[in-house]
Amino acid sequence: MDINYNTDVIVVGAGPCGISTAIEIAQAGKKVVLLDRAKYIGSKNMYGGAIYKTALKEIFQDDFNTLPYERIINSHSWAFLNNTGSVCITYQDDENKEAYAVKRSSLEKWMIDIAKKRGVYFAPNTLVKNLIQQNGYVVGVETELEKYYAPIVILADGVNSLLAKELNLREKYEPKDVILSVKETIKLDKKTIEERFNLKDDLTNGVVKMLLGNPEGVKNIFMMGFLYTFKDTIMLGVGANLADLVKNKININDLLEYLKQHNDIQPLIKDGQSLEYSAHLIPETGYNKMPKLTGNGVIIAGDAAGFVNSIHFEGTNYALISGKLAGKTAVNALNNNNYSQGYLSLYKKELDKSFILKDLYTYRNILNRLYDRRGSLMNYYPKKMKEFFDIITSANCKSKSVQFKNYFLSFLKDRNINELIKDGYMAFRCVLDIFFGR
Ligand SMILES: Cc1cc2nc3c(=O)[nH]c(=O)nc-3n(C[C@H](O)[C@H](O)[C@H](O)COP(=O)(O)OP(=O)(O)OC[C@H]3O[C@@H](n4cnc5c(N)ncnc54)[C@H](O)[C@@H]3O)c2cc1C
Repeated sequence: MDINYNTDVIVVGAGPCGISTAIEIAQAGKKVVLLDRAKYIGSKNMYGGAIYKTALKEIFQDDFNTLPYERIINSHSWAFLNNTGSVCITYQDDENKEAYAVKRSSLEKWMIDIAKKRGVYFAPNTLVKNLIQQNGYVVGVETELEKYYAPIVILADGVNSLLAKELNLREKYEPKDVILSVKETIKLDKKTIEERFNLKDDLTNGVVKMLLGNPEGVKNIFMMGFLYTFKDTIMLGVGANLADLVKNKININDLLEYLKQHNDIQPLIKDGQSLEYSAHLIPETGYNKMPKLTGNGVIIAGDAAGFVNSIHFEGTNYALISGKLAGKTAVNALNNNNYSQGYLSLYKKELDKSFILKDLYTYRNILNRLYDRRGSLMNYYPKKMKEFFDIITSANCKSKSVQFKNYFLSFLKDRNINELIKDGYMAFRCVLDIFFGR
């Protein structure tokens, strides 16, 4: 059958990736339809809180100046939690203006308004149920109400991407391939947040705290918590590998409760009103389990392709730029009237040249290395850091020399030497991975 195409490209999913894809295509003068299942744009999406300037400026150019941010995040802390307190490293610089705290619903609304102005046709409340295929090519999508046809379909439908699975472009995800994350939005008035976090009152500074270190008795997980300051809310959340949670029978909500009660966090959120609670998955498939990124008439981008660097809390920038590259490839394919997998694989070449596959390649084994030593990193060393600072800060009338000697000998006493060697080797291999990365 001859197909009557409704449009040049269909993009499924209006997160950062799908919107950026659609903008790239519309700006090249092609027709693009962007579909999202959510009735209210952004309502199905969730993140910690930071979106990054460089990627945003590349897509939105001067419109970046209207970004509805609530604070510029220029204080970054890594807190290694122990039972009673933490050892915290903070980097703060008012000149550092790369990360912006933007609420997800405001972010997507802002992006979609710009996309529409640039010629994107957006259809919310439209769930794509299936892909339509003909002669081995994807030629459209079937929604609950109708069928749309286009020579290229771009899948930007997020971590679960049932559509990529339908095409067998990606393997089934196992629990070990994803982080389960929960987040609570806590309301406090603006002034209280500024007092508690020592912020100026003009929204030009904000805080992100990474919270690392398992609660006592919780072993064999790699808990990563986060706290972001917004204008009059705090986002507090935590994530851990799903397989570890299941295996150790740990409820992720209990980890969030632990953070809320922790001596370091409790005073910061005290008297706050809980506004919202949400949960989401983060892909951790990385370079080693990357899907086939293209098929005949189809391209995958963003979270759907597993483009996240969870160690650095980066995902939106990967989504925006992979979307742009997917859009660019689609435009070239339209200009050359070639929608074959072979032609569309130019997308992979573009990704190879970008920071996306360079970084995913560099980090391809680092996460596993850290996971393998998660007991050390999340239980043992936070405890040893506390002991070290106990000595440094205690004016307890005891010999410092004796205390330090005992401290260093304690590594040999309470830790099998093999474990220490494994930890050191892990750190060495991570450094090598970065040094010999792309
Ligand atoms: C807890 C948490 C904290 C994070 N923190 C950060 C952070 O601080 N900074 C950062 O950069 N990244 C962060 N990330 C990662 C970031 O949120 C994602 O990488 C990014 O949102 C991916 O964008 P995307 O457009 O690929 O997918 P998504 O944002 O997931 O968008 C997918 C869209 O597809 C739609 N969709 C899905 N299926 C269908 C269908 N069948 N039909 C129609 N529509 C469909 C959905 O409704 C959704 O709108 C975090 C993630 C989590 C879970």
